[in-house]
Amino acid sequence: SFSRQELADTIRSIPDYPKPGIIFRDITTLLGNPRAFRRAVDELVNPYVGMNVRKIAGMEARGFILGGAVAHQLSAGFVPIRKKGKLPHETVSIAYSLEYGVDEMEIHRDAVLPGEKVILVDDLIATGGTAVGAVQLLRQIGAEVVSACFVIDLPDLGGRAKLEALGVEVRTLVE
Ligand code: 5GP
Repeated sequence: SFSRQELADTIRSIPDYPKPGIIFRDITTLLGNPRAFRRAVDELVNPYVGMNVRKIAGMEARGFILGGAVAHQLSAGFVPIRKKGKLPHETVSIAYSLEYGVDEMEIHRDAVLPGEKVILVDDLIATGGTAVGAVQLLRQIGAEVVSACFVIDLPDLGGRAKLEALGVEVRTLVE
């Protein structure tokens, strides 16, 4: 079957995007490969089978693609975390820092029940700014964030340690 290395090899590296000196890890090539997409989703899902996870939260926009597939496979619901101004109902919002600047993200205030077990899903963790903001939002609305998972970890940027310092387990597939 498809190895971790083969999975990693489906990710395309784009030099100097979005800025000079940055190497962007482009997962559209992974998503477009049928075996790679299935393998990535299966590997994200496997550790959580039988844990009775109620909801998956995913960050706009690549977290929607992976998070939707993970939620379906775990028979969980899906909660979108979106850029400011996109959600129609009452929201909670947070400013967060990311690799290339600052932004604001939001979640619906009633997206989870108090104490509901939620797993966060995104394509990649770099500085951890996005994921830390998402965990804070989820906790503000009463979720219990049990774990966060990503296809790619950029370990030199320290995101994993930041999430772990918040008491969130972190799972990643490739570095
Ligand atoms: P962080 O907040 O951890 O610094 O950055 C991670 C967030 O930015 C994620 O939502 C991720 O989708 C996006 N991101 C940052 N760098 C990259 C990259 O090289 N490739 C991809 N696919 N996403 C990135």
